[in-house]
Amino acid sequence: MKIAKDTLSFILEVSRSSVPLEFAGMLQATGDIITDVVIVPGTESSEESAVMQLFMLPNISTIGTVHSHPSGNRKPSSFDLELFDRKGMYHIITGAPFDMSSWTCYDVKGEKIRLEVVEYDFKEENENW
Ligand code: ZN
Repeated sequence: MKIAKDTLSFILEVSRSSVPLEFAGMLQATGDIITDVVIVPGTESSEESAVMQLFMLPNISTIGTVHSHPSGNRKPSSFDLELFDRKGMYHIITGAPFDMSSWTCYDVKGEKIRLEVVEYDFKEENENW
């Protein structure tokens, strides 16, 4: 699995601008590239509530989740692991300082997995609309 560089930048930017609140969203893919983020509205400040917001989403077609840890510790919590197990295959946690290396992708078991960052041409995609 891969992630579009622009999508990753967007995720890190929203994570950074949400501080001190957490940001949470669902990931959508085009083929084998993660290209879109559905932001969960009204995410509250605690780790527990960010995860609960994600649990409450209907089962839209997504491949995983993303949320931020303003503390900078990107280790999944027990709430996170429960979420990972129920909401898709790929789970990104971002952490302060939210630069291009401030993120980790986990699988359903909370094991780190590698996501390749690729260039993706969103412009071409929009022309087809
Ligand atoms: Zn978390």
